[in-house]
Amino acid sequence: MAARAVIIGGGVVGCVTAIKLKESGYDVTVVDKSFVGEESSAAGAGIIFPLMPWNYESKVYQLCSGASAFYKNLSEKLIHGGFGDPEFIESGMICIEPSDKKEIVQWAKKNNFKINECLFNNRPSFELVNVAQINPKKLMISLKRYISTLGVRLIENCNLKQIQRKSNYINGWPTDNNGLIEGDIFIITAGAWSSNIINNGKVEIYPVRGQLIKFKKPSIKLDKILYSENFYLLQRKCGAIVAGSTIENVGFDNTTTFQAAYELKEKTISLIPELKEIEPYEQWAGLRPGVKNNIPLIQKDSIHKNIYINSGHYRYGITMAPKSADEILKLIQA
Ligand SMILES: Cc1cc2nc3c(=O)[nH]c(=O)nc-3n(C[C@H](O)[C@H](O)[C@H](O)COP(=O)(O)OP(=O)(O)OC[C@H]3O[C@@H](n4cnc5c(N)ncnc54)[C@H](O)[C@@H]3O)c2cc1C
Repeated sequence: MAARAVIIGGGVVGCVTAIKLKESGYDVTVVDKSFVGEESSAAGAGIIFPLMPWNYESKVYQLCSGASAFYKNLSEKLIHGGFGDPEFIESGMICIEPSDKKEIVQWAKKNNFKINECLFNNRPSFELVNVAQINPKKLMISLKRYISTLGVRLIENCNLKQIQRKSNYINGWPTDNNGLIEGDIFIITAGAWSSNIINNGKVEIYPVRGQLIKFKKPSIKLDKILYSENFYLLQRKCGAIVAGSTIENVGFDNTTTFQAAYELKEKTISLIPELKEIEPYEQWAGLRPGVKNNIPLIQKDSIHKNIYINSGHYRYGITMAPKSADEILKLIQA
């Protein structure tokens, strides 16, 4: 009989981990406190790249490598299987007038990453050729359909409680209505909430709110993602332009604010003045699973021998999901 793997949290990290475990022969269940794919993972911008890898430890880019190829392949499967189009686009990204020009050139050379010098509105810039994007909301809708078809069991509206530490192994995880989700191994992929269910003082993951706004002006065509000073603009297939994002430490509050909309619009106008007269038609927020140095926790629990954690992907969870799923699988099979 296949080993039963219970994945706690159905965001992009949980869903991609589910695919990899299922492909490796596990009997997989994904449990979510609300609905699969409706938290941080659906709220993201969908840039498949760690915006400024030259400013991070090399582990960050290592966890992002191979992501474009993974999503390209997955998108083809999702489209051809009739699960939906997650709008994967190999658009490239323009990094406008960066202050860390030298670091970018060194990083690109070291990592064999293609960059071209270019001008954006007469400002000296770099084009990062192999940067891709995806529509996270559409990705999560199609991923949910896809994993169900693979035979992954989905249990929604089921909030798992903080684990009581009594033995080295557990054979079930308690739910907050006195139920038990049985399994042989448990993988925590509960995003910003991960520390709430396994708080041993070592899992330090905290919510970091990010807000985005969306404009529509059909005459504007953005072939490439634009990035400048921790701010980006990108265009969805339908023509909508997404601007983001804020980085706010406000706990588990995912409401949107007027201030954020104002600041994001000002930054947008500084790159595309034609959007001055257009008001954003949508604003939303998500809670990123914040972690020190943007390096997720991919590890076995220090007490329970059949609990694993794959969480804390902070700003790049969509990009890091495939590689971190590979890493957790390796740990499970070790
Ligand atoms: C504004 C914004 C922009 C972003 N842009 C990008 C980007 O361009 N590129 C990129 O790669 N990343 C981006 N990110 C980051 C990325 O979205 C996150 O890192 C990623 O979504 C984290 O995925 P996750 O599966 O860990 O968390 P989530 O998607 O939050 O999933 C966690 C799930 O666990 C469930 N859960 C929590 N507690 C429990 C419990 N007790 N019991 C059962 N279920 C539980 C939740 O309901 C939720 O569905 C962005 C994020 C934001 C907010």
